Amino acid sequence: MRFIQESTHLTPEQLLPTQSKPLQKISNIQIPTPTQPNPAFNYSTELQHYLSGRSLLPDELPFLIELLHQHHLNGYIIYGKGVENNHCHRCGNTKKHLFASFECYRCKEPCTYCRNCIMMGRVSECTPLITWTGPAPPAANPPSFDWTGTLSQAQQEASNRVVDTVKTKDNLLVWAVCGAGKTEVLFQGIQEALNQNKRVCITAPRTDVILELSPRLQKVFPQTSIPSLYGGSEDRHEYGQLVLSTTHQLFRYEKAFDFIVIDEVDAFPYSYDTSLQYAVEKARKPESAIVYLTATPDSQTQKGCASKKQNHIRIPARYHRHPIPMPRLAWCGNWKKAFDKNKIPSKLKKWTLQKLQQNKQALIFFPSVKIVEKALPLFQKMNPAIESVHAEDPHRKEKVQKVRSGETPILLTTTILERGVTIPNIGVAVLGAEESIFTESALVQIAGRAGRSAAHPTGDIVYFHYGRTKEMINAIFHIYNMNKEAGKRGLIDG
Ligand SMILES: [Zn+2]
Ligand SMILES: [Zn+2]
Repeated sequence: MRFIQESTHLTPEQLLPTQSKPLQKISNIQIPTPTQPNPAFNYSTELQHYLSGRSLLPDELPFLIELLHQHHLNGYIIYGKGVENNHCHRCGNTKKHLFASFECYRCKEPCTYCRNCIMMGRVSECTPLITWTGPAPPAANPPSFDWTGTLSQAQQEASNRVVDTVKTKDNLLVWAVCGAGKTEVLFQGIQEALNQNKRVCITAPRTDVILELSPRLQKVFPQTSIPSLYGGSEDRHEYGQLVLSTTHQLFRYEKAFDFIVIDEVDAFPYSYDTSLQYAVEKARKPESAIVYLTATPDSQTQKGCASKKQNHIRIPARYHRHPIPMPRLAWCGNWKKAFDKNKIPSKLKKWTLQKLQQNKQALIFFPSVKIVEKALPLFQKMNPAIESVHAEDPHRKEKVQKVRSGETPILLTTTILERGVTIPNIGVAVLGAEESIFTESALVQIAGRAGRSAAHPTGDIVYFHYGRTKEMINAIFHIYNMNKEAGKRGLIDG
């Protein structure tokens, strides 16, 4: 898309008589200072709902260019630069090797585009990012709040801090053990924000989390429109006072939210990918509140908490007031060699047989898909109903469901099930706990699968290893310290 630059506005090529000049791509134009929205202009509420708080490509807007231009002339939308001088304004990428050039049919010259966010549609030097500068849509309904549950003492303390954070537009890390009930801790803060007609976003790296949160929040806030945004979702056109979004989809927002919650802030890829952090910063309003949720903060964040540099509150105990079961270490020898000889390491085999005899279900975590595939036929000799699962498995959900229904006694898995899976009364083992994939955070998350329900608050957790690592020791201390704090604060019984 090329433009003619005029004193107060830009006119796109499509609306000009042929051979007008001088046409320029947006990256070469000095963007005129936006004019105030003309109050007499009868703006499109449809466009307002679609674009408010977002930053979109022309191709993402199902509106005629004439309509967009009228809004531009009247101060309701602006055209911003997509890519200029190896800087992508959508994803924040400034790494030279993540840009490429092509012969562009739109600007008829070599044009540089961003490879980092290409999965959301190409942004190049001649692609404007369009934003809404008119008023935000009015709140549709006074939000209703339909939740009758009660919070534990620790949850209530955290919930109060979340409400304060919303009021003071501050930041807060909620460090809650696996199974503490961290979602409930958000409800009052969200209600506070919605009551003030503020716009709220809950974002998480994994689509699974968004899909799981959506029905729960819709139940609690029945009159609020809650679009869910993830790759391939159909709610993209909805405005939403409360938005659920994967972190990637936040690239499409700009200065939209008064309150952002980042769930699983430690989870890949957010903690590795700085452009996702950029997305969050871009999506929030300059004056806004932010709450981070995690069960397993990385070591840097833990240090920030210890030195009180990071505002935080811990929920060290589960809702059911029982301590988190402690993992134990078991040396199992050279397990790789054992599998090469088509044998299950004897200690793990014994543990598995015991579970089968006692009719207890278990998850066994392996360091790679390759080992899972090698192990499955050997385990099936013990019991043909034993199953395996990994990230690319199309039947992942059904297989987890079969464990829940009791059909599958034991499920072999990669780390894909380390988070989010709740099965009552389950034993947990890790094989090859010394492998680098089993970080402190992964091991704590895996241990966190056990003892989740009030009816079965205990559970057997074993890290089978061929040499202890610091990560294993840290994981055990992590859980130990949480239980200790819970005891001190009177959050567990006995
Ligand atoms: Zn980009
Ligand atoms: Zn171009």
